[in-house]
Amino acid sequence: RAGTPPLDLLDLDGSLTEEDRQIRSVVGQLVATRVRPHVARWYEIGQAPVRELAVEFGKVGLLGMHLTGYGCAGASAVAYGLACLELEAGDSGVRSLVSVQGSLAMYAIWRYGSEEQKQQWLPRMAAGELIGCFGLTEPDHGSDPASMTTRARRDGTDWVLTGGKMWITNAPVADLAVVWARTDEGVRGFVVPMATPGVTAREIRHKMSLRASSTGEIVLDDVRLPADAQLPAATGLRAPLSCLTEARYGIVWGALGAARDCLHAAIDYATSRMQFGRPIAGFQLTQAKLADMAVELQKGYLLALHLGRLADAGTLRPEQVSVGKLNNVREAIAIARECRTILGANGISGEYPVLRHANNLESVLTYEGTSEIHQLVIGQRLTGLSAFNG
Ligand code: FAD
Repeated sequence: RAGTPPLDLLDLDGSLTEEDRQIRSVVGQLVATRVRPHVARWYEIGQAPVRELAVEFGKVGLLGMHLTGYGCAGASAVAYGLACLELEAGDSGVRSLVSVQGSLAMYAIWRYGSEEQKQQWLPRMAAGELIGCFGLTEPDHGSDPASMTTRARRDGTDWVLTGGKMWITNAPVADLAVVWARTDEGVRGFVVPMATPGVTAREIRHKMSLRASSTGEIVLDDVRLPADAQLPAATGLRAPLSCLTEARYGIVWGALGAARDCLHAAIDYATSRMQFGRPIAGFQLTQAKLADMAVELQKGYLLALHLGRLADAGTLRPEQVSVGKLNNVREAIAIARECRTILGANGISGEYPVLRHANNLESVLTYEGTSEIHQLVIGQRLTGLSAFNG
């Protein structure tokens, strides 16, 4: 291609460290060889080789890469963000695998677990030998997890869990779940091996989005766990919400990857597709679309870089992550849909990545807090008034 790649317009790469660039390049190459050639088929059959991918991602330190110790890479927040961007340029489902493993399941254990729990689970999760999932959403409680009905009651020194979780990424393939449940003392987190009697996981079929990702329902039917299955430092709903902030941070970056991939596809297509005797990229209306999308992509990248630097300085606040998630996913989905128009009929074909990304981003818009919920978070910050209860 003769032109400048859309993420290079403002020369923002100049502000990355050499290490950031190296990590991005390693992940980009892994996605190019291991994901890109196969992902259209995974999407079509609704199944990805999650276990194999986890082991390969583990080998290059992608699982829990921003955590320290216990076999984790201890990378910077910016490097982790760049990795998410490259992964999601492959597919949002593939980035979801890494986000759920590292930022939800592993982070919960790393941040709230006992030393024994960390030693027991984290090194094998970092290596991709064990797959984790994170069960907060329930069939009747999504945006409002404070109303959860999954219960954990004490029986002697044991805990007994009853209830169900819904829309849980990786649940059907997971070895363990971090499950959040109501107890007499408030919300608590539990590490639940999926092989425990009373635990069943069922794949959710007929998804039209995130098809290269496994999503499931977990049923907990009088699941008996030893006392040491509880995460000791997690007291109250703030604990799972803090895990979500971690994962949302990755989405701020990841969504840009999906958008970048769409824009690349649209520019490639527009420069070679001839109509009315010239490439459609030569028409002013097409260039206006491409320019506006590239500008939004750059703005999103600046926002992600800023949030990353706040995270690396240890000052990033949850509502700042809401700003990033709200903006970057909303703009990414708008870019994906606009790119779709540039590809015309080919835009709806699985031969091109554009509609797959657009469909995936519908899930990304909803999970980890819907756009509306992030608007409420920002609105509360601006006004001092909570509008969550209407
Ligand atoms: P609801 O909460 O019922 O919301 C429906 C609509 O109402 C939305 O538009 C919402 O914004 C709006 N709404 C709700 N409350 C308000 C309000 N106060 N004001 C204004 N509007 C409001 N969950 C997990 O725990 N773990 C996972 O690994 C996981 N993976 C997922 C993977 C996929 C592919 C998907 C699609 C979801 C996943 N989720 C997961 C669940 C996800 O987090 C929830 O779907 C999300 O929180 C929204 O909940 P809900 O679907 O029940 O929608």
